[in-house]
Amino acid sequence: MNVRAIYPGTFDPMTVGHADVAERASRMFDELVIGVAASRSKNPFFTLDERVALARRITESLGNVTVRPFEGLLVDFAAAANSQVVVRGLRAISDFEFEVQIAGVNRHLAPKVETVFIAAAQEYTFLSSSIVREVAGHDGDVSDFVHPIVVEAFNRKYERAGRTGRRPTPES
Ligand code: ADP
Repeated sequence: MNVRAIYPGTFDPMTVGHADVAERASRMFDELVIGVAASRSKNPFFTLDERVALARRITESLGNVTVRPFEGLLVDFAAAANSQVVVRGLRAISDFEFEVQIAGVNRHLAPKVETVFIAAAQEYTFLSSSIVREVAGHDGDVSDFVHPIVVEAFNRKYERAGRTGRRPTPES
């Protein structure tokens, strides 16, 4: 049986923690579709197109992984992607309550869709997109937390807004 799983999230932006979950999920399933949620209510820092493009570049070496944007209900995206497995990453107890609640609602809405949790790698349990945005927004170095192309994307954004996004050198 060919099992296609989806890995949904806002990915604003994709971190090395997300990439690690995607890589491990890609070994568990025949195909993995990363679903980048529009998440308008979260007012994302990166546009949907930017988040999709970054996720594509970061996962391009994984042959069975594709990236698609989606809007609306997760169960509808699962149906559209012809998938009955939803992958979510779990970092800490703090993720647990919310994730189990969502999984329960999704099971209610679409009983055939199963949610599978992948435990975050120990070294990434502290890592979230919001912390990365916070650090980058204060000119901090996020290169240990995200792929180099995400560092570039932050720099481009801040240059456009009139800032460098990089720590000024002592002589500047
Ligand atoms: P959402 O807006 O749906 O929470 P996110 O982009 O924040 O989307 O996260 C997508 C998924 O990745 C969630 O299941 C989240 O718990 C998981 N995740 C986030 N950061 C990490 C990390 N550092 N390691 C493993 N999983 C993570």
